[in-house]
Amino acid sequence: MFSIYTGIYAMALEEINLIWLEGLDCAGCTISIKQASNPTLIDIVTGAIPGLGGLKLVFNPTLMFEWGEDASKVLVDAMEGKYDPFVLILEGAIPDEARAKPGVYCAIGEYNHKLLLLDEVVDGLSKKCAAAVAIGTCASYGGIPSGKPNPTGARGLLDYLGKKWKGGLGLPVICVPGCPPRPDNIVQVLGHAVLAARGLAPLPELDEHHRPTYLYGDTAHENCSICGFFSGGVAGHGFGERGCLGLVGCKGLITHCNASATWMDGYGGCTETGSPCIGCADPNFPDPPTSPFFGDAPPIAYLKDFSRGLRTQVKLAIAAAKRRKI
Ligand code: SF4
Ligand code: SF4
Repeated sequence: MFSIYTGIYAMALEEINLIWLEGLDCAGCTISIKQASNPTLIDIVTGAIPGLGGLKLVFNPTLMFEWGEDASKVLVDAMEGKYDPFVLILEGAIPDEARAKPGVYCAIGEYNHKLLLLDEVVDGLSKKCAAAVAIGTCASYGGIPSGKPNPTGARGLLDYLGKKWKGGLGLPVICVPGCPPRPDNIVQVLGHAVLAARGLAPLPELDEHHRPTYLYGDTAHENCSICGFFSGGVAGHGFGERGCLGLVGCKGLITHCNASATWMDGYGGCTETGSPCIGCADPNFPDPPTSPFFGDAPPIAYLKDFSRGLRTQVKLAIAAAKRRKI
């Protein structure tokens, strides 16, 4: 008898390939995903999470066993459709190869004596993938490689493919910014993309910068574990000092990110460990207003937060007064 469980089991067995490219990057996002704790990579590769079995990481230049032409052949085959269905993952920015001529900026392989350029591979794979996920601020919006004056013309996947681009699933580019992103953010978004590809989860809701709203809906300030110091007017004047780190350049008020309070497995977190947020998940990073990193956040951010907080506190005070009368 067919039940929803047998349906899920059958879909879980269907193999989905993951093709993880690296462009102009530092491999920090790959290092980050190895720290994931909810779920862990082991949970995923062993199929311990219902609906996520059958995933195969067929290409990741930092983690894969194949090397040289064997590794490059995976990309050539994938562009010919031999790894369908697959999710395209990009770490790192894409340079403008037209500026590099007669040289090249970013070759990611070589096959039959021909260099495989990142932009050509992205062009080929983006025509066939079920979904495309940009991991990290470089892949999402350009990040550090695109910082002014951006000599290589580096861009993120969202700008490269365009906001109207859609993969086989009908989803636009999904962005997971952060430099690097929180490990759990990466696995959860990739897991969600795969579940959506199998029809086991709704498509993720994305905001104007194509970030999943359930992870990037709040600012680092709203998530900050020492936000009580901010409301209490207690200011720290150095790293790790007791108090809000606004005077050390914290950009938590203007950056949507959930890594301020915790990094992995309940440990770490940027402001939690005494370091101001540098806005690394912001689409403008590393340019203003996220920089200078230890310069002040725009005063308007403080005013907005203050007026919003004041409105809420007045509402709460009125509600509390009414309840007391009852
Ligand atoms: S300004 Fe920074 S340190 Fe201060 S409460 Fe906000 S996020 Fe936390
Ligand atoms: S520096 Fe800010 S934006 Fe970057 S991970 Fe930490 S809290 Fe998030």
